[in-house]
Amino acid sequence: MNIVVDKKRCPQNHPCPAVKVCPVNAMTQKGFAAPEIDAKACIACKKCIRFCPMGAIREG
Ligand code: SF4
Repeated sequence: MNIVVDKKRCPQNHPCPAVKVCPVNAMTQKGFAAPEIDAKACIACKKCIRFCPMGAIREG
């Protein structure tokens, strides 16, 4: 399963708070851009999905 970021839902105007909840540091963010998820590092724990208030992170 891949976890993906929906750029249409992410407002891309703030530091992504979900980056900090990832237990394996699979999420990175450049500036205020939508965060990227390293599919090889991600263990699909779904913490970021539950954390994002915009619902911008989902199973892909
Ligand atoms: S699903 Fe879990 S491991 Fe994958 S990016 Fe989100 S918080 Fe990190």
